[in-house]
Amino acid sequence: MVHNFTNKVVVIGTGFVGSSYAFALLNEGIAHELVLIDVNEKKAEGDARDLNHGMPFAPSPMLIRSGSYDECRDADLVVITAGANQKPGETRLDLVEKNVAIFQTIIEQVMSSGFNGILLIATNPVDVLSYASWKFSGLPKEKVIGSGTILDTARFRYLLGSYFQVDPRNVHAYIMGEHGDTEFPVWSHATIGGQTLKEYMNDNSKMKDLQQIFFNVRNAAYDIIHLKGATYYGIAMGLVRITKAIFQNENSILTVSALLDGSYGEEDVYLGVPAIINRQGIRQIIELPLNPEEQKQLHHSANTLRQTIQSVNIR
Ligand code: NAD
Repeated sequence: MVHNFTNKVVVIGTGFVGSSYAFALLNEGIAHELVLIDVNEKKAEGDARDLNHGMPFAPSPMLIRSGSYDECRDADLVVITAGANQKPGETRLDLVEKNVAIFQTIIEQVMSSGFNGILLIATNPVDVLSYASWKFSGLPKEKVIGSGTILDTARFRYLLGSYFQVDPRNVHAYIMGEHGDTEFPVWSHATIGGQTLKEYMNDNSKMKDLQQIFFNVRNAAYDIIHLKGATYYGIAMGLVRITKAIFQNENSILTVSALLDGSYGEEDVYLGVPAIINRQGIRQIIELPLNPEEQKQLHHSANTLRQTIQSVNIR
């Protein structure tokens, strides 16, 4: 079918995360067409109808419907949020076998449609599934992006912002590594209004509080899952942020899961790093000069993820 629309998104998996993403995307007004796919076809159809009823309040029109994998053929972006989520007490890595098997069938169907756009992965464990999607799809590494530590970085900036009573948009601080238990804070490059944290604080007396802030970031998903069963608004907005950087060719620096192909001395693994995102996908990984402790933490994260990848034999 020939049409005049641009910026077509397909969401696969319209559960909590997928439907929240669709809602946030509609409110952002940056996509023209949105197709929802789920094994639970009724859920996808129900979401499409519900979202369409918000159209009179949306910033710009968007064609929304439920559909099948053929719709991926001319999609610019396929966002995958399908699969099992963490149950209370379950780590993200516990999900790996279930979700790798689901991804094998999903990616096969996406690719057999003739898809040649960008894949954005959010399902956990997101770094392992981004790697699996890259392998299964055969797409260039630039075109397979994981949400990585975008949410952890947002949580970190938010908590540091509230602690110092500074707008989180003026706090620049990254969480890098696995989106999971081995992630780490990059204190050596954390700044507030251009000052390092050390300069901003004048002394180191608050370092203990800052460590606690990082622990709260690392445990945030566990805490929210304990409270309400799942997390979805934060990640949905993070996925929309990445979508915007792609569609508007922003060259924005975001912490996403990217293939490390020599950067940071690592190979053959996806993990959260700051990267420049534009219409081509991942333009470039930013290689920060990490301090020795941070470098060690990055290696540990990379090794953990590589071991998981090997344990499920993704080839
Ligand atoms: P959910 O159970 O609400 O939704 C998952 C959806 O996937 C369901 O609607 C289900 O029917 C669908 N599905 C399952 N198998 C499918 C298949 N083969 N094809 C198509 N659809 C299929 O779960 P959720 O809370 O939306 O979480 C989804 C994923 O996102 C989980 O893996 C979760 O851990 C992850 N997540 C990631 C982040 C992040 O920062 N990356 C944050 C929150 C959640």
